[in-house]
Amino acid sequence: MLKCKEVVEKADALVDGTPLHWRERVALRLHLLMCHHCRRYVRQLGALVTSLHKPAAPPASDEQVDRIMRNLDQAP
Ligand SMILES: [Zn+2]
Repeated sequence: MLKCKEVVEKADALVDGTPLHWRERVALRLHLLMCHHCRRYVRQLGALVTSLHKPAAPPASDEQVDRIMRNLDQAP
């Protein structure tokens, strides 16, 4: 069975879809079935990678900025 350190070293490949030899893939899956620490690590790495690939929000339009400024002026 793989050690946690080995799973961490191969986690990038799991997350970004890099092809692995079937033996490596099976060994990783087996380890992840039994080790909640590595499952959490891979899940968090996947979430991080996904968030980095999301396009940034478009900048606010002039109308949106004006509306926000008016709301701020009217705030008590
Ligand atoms: Zn582990």
